[in-house]
Amino acid sequence: MKKREGFTTANLHSDRRDQPEHGVLHKAIHPSVAYGYEDSRDLAAVFQGRKAGYNYGRQLNPTVTALQKRVTNMEGGSDTIAFATGMAAIGSVFFSLLRAGDHVVSSAYLFGNTNSLFSSFERFGIEISFVDATNADNVRAAIRDNTRLVFVETIANPVTQIADLSSIGELCREQGLLYMVDNTMTTPWLFQPASVGASLVISSLTKYFGGHGNALGGAITDTGQYDWASYPNILDTYRKGESSRWGMTQIRKKGLRDFGATLGPEAAHHLAVGSETLPLRMDRACDNALALAQFLDSHPAIASVSYPGLTAHPQHERARQLFKRPGSIMSITPVEGIDCFDLLNQLQCVVASSNLGDTRTLGIPVAHTIFHEMGPERRASMGISDNMIRLSVGIEDVDDLIADFSAALEKLE
Ligand SMILES: *Cc1c(COP(=O)(O)O)cnc(C)c1O
Repeated sequence: MKKREGFTTANLHSDRRDQPEHGVLHKAIHPSVAYGYEDSRDLAAVFQGRKAGYNYGRQLNPTVTALQKRVTNMEGGSDTIAFATGMAAIGSVFFSLLRAGDHVVSSAYLFGNTNSLFSSFERFGIEISFVDATNADNVRAAIRDNTRLVFVETIANPVTQIADLSSIGELCREQGLLYMVDNTMTTPWLFQPASVGASLVISSLTKYFGGHGNALGGAITDTGQYDWASYPNILDTYRKGESSRWGMTQIRKKGLRDFGATLGPEAAHHLAVGSETLPLRMDRACDNALALAQFLDSHPAIASVSYPGLTAHPQHERARQLFKRPGSIMSITPVEGIDCFDLLNQLQCVVASSNLGDTRTLGIPVAHTIFHEMGPERRASMGISDNMIRLSVGIEDVDDLIADFSAALEKLE
């Protein structure tokens, strides 16, 4: 049998192999919102799903379709829907698959806006239990009769806790629960949630996937492992044809079409081009992160470093087993007497910025910004200290990063 093509090769040649216009190597940016039909009966057939085709830009766009295909291949899934942002992807899945009275078990270690979004769903009658998902026993203990899904992130922001991904996968399979994994921090290059039985993979394409901080986007990928025929909230209208497609059909119609957080074709193009260098960028960023984490960990002016690549990290072994590399996110807390704002202001190479997964190294004082709204109690429960800085390490020359911290800390000590 012919060996399967590698991750990078398959992605680089994805657009060109899909019979694009004029033999272009990049799928073109198609701005058209509407599509014309010679035979109006064809238009009707497209609307009714009897024929493949495009009807309106909020639902489908050829440039976006090409990106979706890339994501599906990278995640080893069966189907992908792209959205305007990562938040839109998460929100649209919850909106389309849950109803009042349902219960969700979520990791307590969550991206700040995801946490805020979940509390909005609580106002609409969906119950959410937040548990320490680094141990699957806590997830098991929270499951009830009305539990529909379990939501976790691979590496949590900012303290880098790693969910008990394999055991939660087994638990969800055993209980017939939908298993949603946010793979933003690891990306399919470091980890494929499909390998631990995830049902749906969430990705903020804005971050490492696009990788240059120049386009927003999100995606949901169906791994093809969940039996949608057993999901109670599929509407009768969508219980038609192959049951393997029901979930994504409902998300497409109720989530994307009705909610309308559609990814634009220009952004899709940026994200697709960015993704072509994902493995190169990610490997370099992870190498830089490990070297920087080791440097900071041994520096007397730094009180603590959370990075899964350090042997002292509580889930270091898990990271080694599951991920190709331990990612490029870390959080650091300077010793008392060195203020996080002063440290950030001294740094020349590191940009004070809220994004992550950029080619540039970005740093942010988390308690005062992205986790400010959560309040001190929830922050404390997540291990977030007031003086903590989250770093998203980029692909700079590592010596420059180490020299930058070295000089800044020397000034402040
Ligand atoms: C950024 C991020 C999101 C949201 O993605 P956007 O594209 O910014 O909407 C969701 N989950 C995680 C883990 C993220 O880092």
